[in-house]
Amino acid sequence: MWFLRSCGGFCPGKARSLSRVSSLMQVFRQTLNPTTGRAEWTAMDEDYDYNQEVARSSYTDMLHDEERNKKYKAGLELAIGRVRGRGQRVHVLDIGTGSGLLSMLAVQAGADRVTACECFKPMAGAARKIVKTNGFSDKITVIPKRSTEITTGPGGDMSERANILVAELLDTELIGEGCLYTYQHALKHLVTPDCIFVPHAATVYAQVVESDFMWNWHRLRELPLKGCEKGLVPSSDMEACMGAAAVHDIQLSQVKQEQFKPLSEPIKVFRFEFDKKMECLERGTDLSVVIKETGQAQVILMWWDIEMDPDSSVLLSVAPFWAHPTPNNMQWRDHWMQALYFNHQSIPVEKGQQVALHGRHDEYSLWFQVQKQGSMNSTGSEVSLERPVCRCGGHMVWSRPRLGMLNDRCRWGTYAAALRQVLAPGQTCVSVSDASWVPLMAARLGAQEVFALESSDLGARVTHKLIEANNLQDKVHIVQGSEEQLEAALKDKKVAMVIAEPYYSSSLLPWHSLYFWYVCTRLRHKLQGGAAVLPARAELVAVAMDFENLWRLRAPVGTVEGFDISVMDQMVKDHSNQTDERVEPHPLWEYPGVGVSNPVTLMNFDLTQSVPTENMVATGDIPFTRSGSCNAVALWMNYDLLGDGRHTMSTGPHAPYTSGSPQWDPHIRQGVYFMDQPVQVLPDSRLVYRVTFSPKDGQMDFQFDIENSQGKN
Ligand code: SAH
Ligand code: ZN
Repeated sequence: MWFLRSCGGFCPGKARSLSRVSSLMQVFRQTLNPTTGRAEWTAMDEDYDYNQEVARSSYTDMLHDEERNKKYKAGLELAIGRVRGRGQRVHVLDIGTGSGLLSMLAVQAGADRVTACECFKPMAGAARKIVKTNGFSDKITVIPKRSTEITTGPGGDMSERANILVAELLDTELIGEGCLYTYQHALKHLVTPDCIFVPHAATVYAQVVESDFMWNWHRLRELPLKGCEKGLVPSSDMEACMGAAAVHDIQLSQVKQEQFKPLSEPIKVFRFEFDKKMECLERGTDLSVVIKETGQAQVILMWWDIEMDPDSSVLLSVAPFWAHPTPNNMQWRDHWMQALYFNHQSIPVEKGQQVALHGRHDEYSLWFQVQKQGSMNSTGSEVSLERPVCRCGGHMVWSRPRLGMLNDRCRWGTYAAALRQVLAPGQTCVSVSDASWVPLMAARLGAQEVFALESSDLGARVTHKLIEANNLQDKVHIVQGSEEQLEAALKDKKVAMVIAEPYYSSSLLPWHSLYFWYVCTRLRHKLQGGAAVLPARAELVAVAMDFENLWRLRAPVGTVEGFDISVMDQMVKDHSNQTDERVEPHPLWEYPGVGVSNPVTLMNFDLTQSVPTENMVATGDIPFTRSGSCNAVALWMNYDLLGDGRHTMSTGPHAPYTSGSPQWDPHIRQGVYFMDQPVQVLPDSRLVYRVTFSPKDGQMDFQFDIENSQGKN
């Protein structure tokens, strides 16, 4: 729960955070230069201000999770009651104390003393302050260390072992934060043999489903081109690839019922009893599952529940609504979601048939495979039960939503229609995209030659595979690097067309794709007269939002279970005061909400002209169209491919949208500007904005204020 969303290594995946903390506790921050399209992870030095990590982490969301807090409290009360019942003094070890909440709950429930450890130093400092503010310094000792570094015995961090262990080290994938090893180490070194663990156990569930919608995130599909005998195809190794290993976390309850079909009941796959010794942190289980609907077994949905006490009387489930014990009373949370795992291949299954569901886990991750029973052959299993690794390269350059975008036939239909309008025989084109269909499509539709600029080596290799699979070697030439390499490759050729989706894997926020504009500007002298630039225009669009829940991520916590945790709020506030990086990327289709204004264009960009040298400033106001709580502004880009309004692509709402809930494009993250605090708005009030685009560094700066008819709010 500490990272926003998991992301294996540097991948353009679904990480919602702009920063991550490695296991070595060194902070890496991703910085992007939109004018060059380059992103890099920079290691921060000792003095680095960590407030950003705290501000953008899930700590706040966890503290807002009332069900979680109350169930930890109940679990602690039961455990403390038991230990007291044995006539023992209560010594609680809180591993990963964060804000100190669980330690304070333990003291409140009657613990004699608490040892709290926290490996993230800035958080340990915050915990100390919070414990002091709430008057618990005499009973709670905060140790700024990883639990595995704690020393025991006389003179050590802990003079004696603890008889209760409380910890919240679970993520969407349950074990992704390394709790298995942390628990095993604690069992050996830090707790008594009769120690009670809160939570005591966890169960992992899996459900096999058919879902074209989700399968599109896993497999690149053939792309038919209207009126063309040949469409575009993926390479054969892409079709055979196991895919990426990184967990795909998702707010499953937001997937529409028509977007998937359950093929099995939810099945218990693993149970972990945290207080039991494990010989080995890797395990596998092979289950026989009855198929209840005929279909294609494609995706395995996963979630878990935890038992807070050894009697399993307090249960906390993160199941989606259809499998939830209390579907009408579900806590909204973002720090624990559900997860998807993709079957190696889509396999046809029939109602009543029994299939094998294989579950595996290692120290940090889970994976699953569905296989027809009896399809094992003498050389072993038909499919690999190894942890999936991408061998085709595609699953490394393409995030899962990006694969969905490449499989979005509607999007590509628009693109192809626009391209046909401007393509003429004998043209030389330049494509500025990252491992995209764009250069191939231009070649297939008639361009004489296409120079495809690829920013990364991996992107170039993947594009190369696509070129070969489609027999376009003589038409599409890859240039890896920047415009200098491109110019060298073009020699004295003049360019008739520069094309882009535009989409770049390093882009974090919608306007980062304006990198295309910079490239066009730098290539200007290579363009022939009347050269086409596609897209020709872009616009930045905003809608004022009343999100049901998303706003909670950034709402102050104040008091939690009666404890004053405002120190955390101050850390977040200090951060926002220091930086104007107010906008965060979020996949909005996963977050219900309604627009309280119409979508309004804030700024127009003419991509056929050069990037200006002076700042672009836009001011104005957006009238609210309905009453509600305005808690955020959603931001995205629209592209007008030919500049005539006839071929447009949006990275915001899919369908034209005027009121109610926008149908957000599920393949890209939109930008979200969180208001300082939710404000009740009426149709006679307005959102006043000032947007500044700074061409020098490609940054966009926003200022939004709500003005009620009585004046500023
Ligand atoms: N206990 C808090 C915070 C939970 S977040 C709460 O429930 O609100 C988990 C925290 O554990 C993070 O702050 C992370 O830095 C810390 N952590 C993870 N593994 C740890 C370990 N082995 N030792 C110490 N801290 C750890
Ligand atoms: Zn692959």
